[in-house]
Amino acid sequence: MLDLIHSTKTHDEDRQGEALALPSTVEGSNGRKLYIESYGCQMNFSDSEIVASILLDKGFETTKDYKEADVIFINTCSIRENAEQRVRNRLKEFESAKAKNPGMIVGVLGCMAERLKSKFLEEEKLVDVVVGPDAYRDLPNLIEKVDDGSKAVNVLLSREETYADINPVRLNTNGISAFISIMRGCDNMCSFCVVPFTRGRERSRDTHSIVREARELYNAGYKEVTLLGQNVDSYKYTPEVPEGEESLPTVNFAQLLSLVAEVSPDLRVRFSTSHPKDITNEVLYTMARYENICNYIHLPVQSGNSRVLELMNRTYDREWYKERVDAIRRIIPECGISTDVITGFCTETEEEHQETLSMMEYVKYDFAYMFAYSERPGTLAAKRYEDDIPEEIKKRRLTEVVNLQREHSLYRLQHFVGKVHKVLIEGFSKRSDKDYCGRNDQNTMVVFPVDERYKVGDYVYVLGQSCTSATLIGKIVD
Ligand code: SF4
Repeated sequence: MLDLIHSTKTHDEDRQGEALALPSTVEGSNGRKLYIESYGCQMNFSDSEIVASILLDKGFETTKDYKEADVIFINTCSIRENAEQRVRNRLKEFESAKAKNPGMIVGVLGCMAERLKSKFLEEEKLVDVVVGPDAYRDLPNLIEKVDDGSKAVNVLLSREETYADINPVRLNTNGISAFISIMRGCDNMCSFCVVPFTRGRERSRDTHSIVREARELYNAGYKEVTLLGQNVDSYKYTPEVPEGEESLPTVNFAQLLSLVAEVSPDLRVRFSTSHPKDITNEVLYTMARYENICNYIHLPVQSGNSRVLELMNRTYDREWYKERVDAIRRIIPECGISTDVITGFCTETEEEHQETLSMMEYVKYDFAYMFAYSERPGTLAAKRYEDDIPEEIKKRRLTEVVNLQREHSLYRLQHFVGKVHKVLIEGFSKRSDKDYCGRNDQNTMVVFPVDERYKVGDYVYVLGQSCTSATLIGKIVD
């Protein structure tokens, strides 16, 4: 599962939807204004860039103010009940704008649209069009349908669609870091997860189109790309060859990583999300071989207990996960590791919860995304197991996990104090424009005083001087 947009706090229902920032006027404009707001994971934000590109091609302009929009799209998340409730509340806020502009079109995209399908139109009268993650090419037609007076729905999932030929329009970008989606869907069937139902079967994108996109971004001044997939380790692409010609070898994730790293040693490469059952030593050795592939892995564990992992259908057990962590520590000693943890999954006992805490103690993660189990309609768990852990116990276990993680994040950050880190300047610190901010190799945020010799997009060496449990504080050293 992809972690939610990393605004230094992910999978975080508190995260506000992000309005689209795009050039306001475009060539061959049809004079209609588009407003997009995205929720959820990096893949959703990356998809909104595809949607923007498709509609800009049709002459739409953009606005950051939904009140002046002709078309409003919300790219929705369905990972937990809270995420869906947030979308419903937001739709209510659009009612007055639509009342003032009856011709305004309101549409929902993404995972909640795919999960609810046409039921969304019954439940939310304001909504005119419902579009699933694989049907964005159809948006211009669907908008025309609504213009002609009817509601429109396209939630067909595809086994081929990767939008490989569509050049994403970079949204809310700092011009330094960008996401590149390398695959869509997921073939794992973790019992708590809606993604296989809302994003369909796994398909890997054409390798050449990924490397081309990385090169174009580098040539456009970007210094970092993050390769996105629900489970990047199962990336595999076999180039099509004309009939009768000799088949070409399949490209796996390790090979894709090195192809992207070869674009330029000056281009940092990150990726998310890995899967414990599929991450190979070949990927780890590839990371160790390229200085510009960042030493950071997001490796969701979900639970530290083998019986609960089996109920979750995670297809690995406690020992397997620990062996993967040992391999990471052996092959890339300085690697940063983050994870996802779910507390209070169906029938989880106190002892099994303690095994999650002891797994965290064993790994000492740099940071983690931690949630109490939220039953999702249509998932295997909802069909097979009773959601039997009382809310207060789920919450108490979550608090224990969060407190332990805070200790470990501080421990990891203290480990960086007194050391020099290569940091890519991404912008100014949220706290003060007298400070720059950027991340080190391990994906930890570093804040340090502005030095006029350097600008956003430059690499600098920063000596870690102190830290909080979330940020390393330092100064540039030459
Ligand atoms: S099914 Fe499992 S691997 Fe796939 S997105 Fe969901 S949690 Fe991740």
